[in-house]
Amino acid sequence: MTIAIVGAGLGGLALARVLHVNGMESVVYEREASRAARGQGGMLDIHSGQRALREAGLIDGFHAIARGEGQDMRLLEPDGTLLLQEDTPDDAPLDRPEVDRADLRDLLLDSLPEGMVRWGHAVTSADDGLLRFADGGSAPYDLLVGADGARSRVRPLLTDTRPVHIGQNVVEIGIPDIDRTHPDLAAMVGRGNYWVLGDGVSLAAQRNGDGRVRIGISFYHTGEDWFATSGIPFDDPAAARARLIDLLPGWDARFTALIAACDDMVVPRSITMLPVGLTWPSAPDVTLIGDAAHLMPPTGEGANMALLDGALLALALAAHPDDYPAAVKEYEHEMFDRTGAIARQCARIHAMLMSPDAAQQMLAFFQPS
Ligand SMILES: Cc1cc2nc3c(=O)[nH]c(=O)nc-3n(C[C@H](O)[C@H](O)[C@H](O)COP(=O)(O)OP(=O)(O)OC[C@H]3O[C@@H](n4cnc5c(N)ncnc54)[C@H](O)[C@@H]3O)c2cc1C
Repeated sequence: MTIAIVGAGLGGLALARVLHVNGMESVVYEREASRAARGQGGMLDIHSGQRALREAGLIDGFHAIARGEGQDMRLLEPDGTLLLQEDTPDDAPLDRPEVDRADLRDLLLDSLPEGMVRWGHAVTSADDGLLRFADGGSAPYDLLVGADGARSRVRPLLTDTRPVHIGQNVVEIGIPDIDRTHPDLAAMVGRGNYWVLGDGVSLAAQRNGDGRVRIGISFYHTGEDWFATSGIPFDDPAAARARLIDLLPGWDARFTALIAACDDMVVPRSITMLPVGLTWPSAPDVTLIGDAAHLMPPTGEGANMALLDGALLALALAAHPDDYPAAVKEYEHEMFDRTGAIARQCARIHAMLMSPDAAQQMLAFFQPS
């Protein structure tokens, strides 16, 4: 019985690994040419997903790459008012550490037997037990798992639902090697997350393990075509930075200094999500995990849910090795409940970030009275 997993992201790799430690093999088809083909970028806040890493026998490896100090947080208003500062004590438990996405992916990849991930296999379609690839090749499956992210090619086998834009567009910029190049800004941002929340706009800066500070400037209540009309010249980074500063009128000079210090990487990201509580009638030979199943607003849950989905599907398959349809049903039942609740929570947080008094709402969220 062949288990084919489409996508070597966190969900697909967690599934392959937990199957492997339970004595079941699978094949992972990944469209990228190699593990280094695309920068993985950025840090992930991993909390509930740690259970998956335990099931995968990788929790010690995870602790070795996790950054506890990444849990530090500062919350500010655009006029410079500091609303909240939380610094993580050195002996704090690793409840929600930050981890470099590439390090976490490498931990999972290195735990799989050579050849289990088939690089350079872009799936174009699947039906009747056959996967088809962009290069004209094909491969059979008994169970197909779509772990292929937001724009899943496997999802249409189960539902016609597509992700929709959520009124948020993000421009990603960053400052390399900040301790050396801009020590004053490094001290301001600190070791973890730095959020400035305004009316309809937010700036989120985060220190990465390699000394780069990644900055996402979100524009809320904006449509799918906003980048085309924003006046941000993405092909001219210096002018793009100047335009971003123009788009933050009245913001404290320390925040605009962060933008001015960025290098020439300026990336637009249009944010979409699947409907909260999406389900589908169970099929005996296909299912979905991770963003393919439940793409959520980016509020720090997606990677955790993808890891958990992968591990829990693997455990269900290991419990029913002769009855994949029963395993899929059992997995989907739990996954729909768990991720539906989490997606509702993400949608609530997203609504707070969209509100005119986002900073005060998030302060109340972090410090309930
Ligand atoms: C900037 C940013 C910050 C985030 N921070 C956090 C955080 O702190 N905490 C958190 O929990 N979540 C976070 N998330 C969300 C998280 O990254 C995703 O939810 C998570 O990566 C989903 O994992 P996945 O395995 O489902 O999909 P992905 O990680 O998207 O992996 C899908 C894989 O499938 C491959 N693929 C796609 N199509 C095909 C095809 N046709 N054929 C073959 N392969 C294919 C892709 O190349 C990719 O390798 C963040 C997201 C972003 C964008």
